[in-house]
Amino acid sequence: MSKQPRRGHPFLRELAAGLLRFSGLPWLIRHVVARRRVTIILYHDPSPDVFEAHMRYLSRRYHFVGMNDVADAIERADWSRLPPRSLVVTFDDGHKGNHLLLPIFRRYGVRPTIYLVSRVIGTDRHYWFQHDGVHSWSLMPLPNAQRLRVLEERFGFTPTREYPGDRHALSVDEIREMQDVVDFEPHTCFHPVLPSCEDEESRREIVESKHDLEKLLGRPCRSFSYPNGDYGSREIAYANAAGFVCARTIDVGWNGPATDPFRLRITGVTDDASINILASQLSGITMYFRYLRRGGRGGRYPQVQVERAST
Ligand SMILES: [Zn+2]
Repeated sequence: MSKQPRRGHPFLRELAAGLLRFSGLPWLIRHVVARRRVTIILYHDPSPDVFEAHMRYLSRRYHFVGMNDVADAIERADWSRLPPRSLVVTFDDGHKGNHLLLPIFRRYGVRPTIYLVSRVIGTDRHYWFQHDGVHSWSLMPLPNAQRLRVLEERFGFTPTREYPGDRHALSVDEIREMQDVVDFEPHTCFHPVLPSCEDEESRREIVESKHDLEKLLGRPCRSFSYPNGDYGSREIAYANAAGFVCARTIDVGWNGPATDPFRLRITGVTDDASINILASQLSGITMYFRYLRRGGRGGRYPQVQVERAST
């Protein structure tokens, strides 16, 4: 989903990223920290031009692997079969624009995982956070029932309302066309902020999205992605009990045998990043300090603080 607005002047950000890129630090991190660990990056809805430039840059520096290779390594408790500098490309939500990237996946031999909002794909429904006029960040701390009430009263949005001709997500035909190159995995049914849900709601969003996709795809789903990177020990327990092998967060870091499989980490990136910014994001440094500034320690994404229900 959409991220908070970035701070700082674009030119200065670019300059800082360029200095960081050519400082040698990203090279050092790639060849020391990331060499024997798995790097995971996250997109939402990048344009084909930017995405192709990223893949060109990454294909010369990393080995693309699929999330299934990571799930295999976790199940075998043996990560040694993964190539050095392994990189997994992931996408969240299943935006309809992802379909335009299919030729690029093929050209660069990328096998991405796209985490789908299982009851928005294949419909003319909207992602709540992308619905006209909605500022998702102000609604995220609300208890789930209250968030849904505000969305309906103020924006006329309900999770199941259809907006014919204005779909946000991939269609079933597009998913089928991409299926031999892309691993599709669940990202809940409707993309709530899981920690703001009641227990049963949170459990159902996780379990039922798995069932939805297994029915659609005819194969078991193995990994999960927490919407907005918000999760707690409750969500980990539900994902584990549902039979997932692993789950991806937006906490920053690299992944290996010591990583909790239900707290896989990422190093960026932003959909519109220039190559300088991509290179600096891959170092994990900017993300680490951005989280730290907002109280997220040890690379942990600062979790949303859910307000108490007002009646
Ligand atoms: Zn999402």
